[in-house]
Amino acid sequence: MAVSGRGPYDPQNVFAKILRGEIPCRRVFENEYALAFHDIAPQAPVHVLVIPKGPYVSFADFSQTAGEAEIAGFTRAVGHVAALLGLEDSGYRLLANMGVTAGQEVPHFHVHLFGGAALGPMLH
Ligand code: ADP
Repeated sequence: MAVSGRGPYDPQNVFAKILRGEIPCRRVFENEYALAFHDIAPQAPVHVLVIPKGPYVSFADFSQTAGEAEIAGFTRAVGHVAALLGLEDSGYRLLANMGVTAGQEVPHFHVHLFGGAALGPMLH
């Protein structure tokens, strides 16, 4: 079910559990600002989720309340993950669903990273 994208932050959401190591993920990259892991239901040959370490409900929450070091560190991590996955030459797509209209389901901000094939005009 889609979530509002507004607070309060629910520490029992599935990505919070992944961050705490309570449920497993197929990790691609991790540093102090971000964790990247393969989506459990991939929509493209490469479909990775990149999440900030902090408790942000959505893009709106992250962009409005995170510190500048976190925003910069997270943004650089997304680019780094794309490079790690070998997508810089072929290209890739970034997507963040914010709130009900976009169908956001997990109330922890995340960026979808798609690649590995020619992508249609819309995905997800
Ligand atoms: P939507 O499901 O509409 O894409 P989101 O933008 O909130 O909504 O995306 C949540 C994503 O998290 C989905 O692509 C889903 O497959 C993925 N997902 C859910 N649970 C897990 C999990 N345990 N491990 C990896 N990916 C997950």
